[in-house]
Amino acid sequence: MSINLAIDGPAGAGKSTIAKKLAKELGFVYVDTGAMYRSMGLYFLRKGVDGKDEAAIKAGCPEIQVSIQYENNEQQVLLNGENVSGLIRTEEVGKMASTISAYGFVRDTLTELQRNLAKTQNVIMDGRDIGTCILPNADVKIYLTASVECRATRRYKELLGRGVEANYDEIAADIAKRDEQDMNREVAPLKQAEDAVLVDSSDMNIDEVVEAIRKIYQEKCQ
Ligand code: C5P
Repeated sequence: MSINLAIDGPAGAGKSTIAKKLAKELGFVYVDTGAMYRSMGLYFLRKGVDGKDEAAIKAGCPEIQVSIQYENNEQQVLLNGENVSGLIRTEEVGKMASTISAYGFVRDTLTELQRNLAKTQNVIMDGRDIGTCILPNADVKIYLTASVECRATRRYKELLGRGVEANYDEIAADIAKRDEQDMNREVAPLKQAEDAVLVDSSDMNIDEVVEAIRKIYQEKCQ
């Protein structure tokens, strides 16, 4: 039996950084489900489809094949066979992913892929509905969050560090809007699973969060 660790939480809480680091330490496979929704978002952006046009999004779904592969332990996401990993990290793609992921038929196209990945190997999977819907029997469930101010500050600093112009107020407003969208949709909304452990990373650095989650894992699984 494989061991499954689910990490859910809002945008910018540090899920992927933490999950990647912990997966490396534990020798688990890291599965980034947000990248899958982002690749679907990219598909519709390229087609010029409005994310709110439910009929057009529904009609497009059967044309999309998302798969993943690993290169040097890094997840690569393939959209109809094309490696789009380098194209999906923009705000525009993130917003489109958040809009279309509210549709049940969009989620259905990715559910099986995500469950199958967790069946045969030890995984740390991050997303919004991993503990609540995708892997309800996960061995460990974490709900990783941080205040909007804290998440916006991290993002702001990260962009400045990369030499990208950034506006703190805009970033904070975008994060709050994405939270609103992800938490209030009807299908698979972002929420803490009843049996998930809450980790608030507002006043913690990366290593402290990794350590906290590793302890929770050890208590439950070893
Ligand atoms: O995690 P990331 O910011 O890359 O995810 C992009 C968007 O995809 C999220 O805002 C969310 O709306 C959606 N998503 C989701 N369920 C997941 C992962 C991501 O709805 N399991």
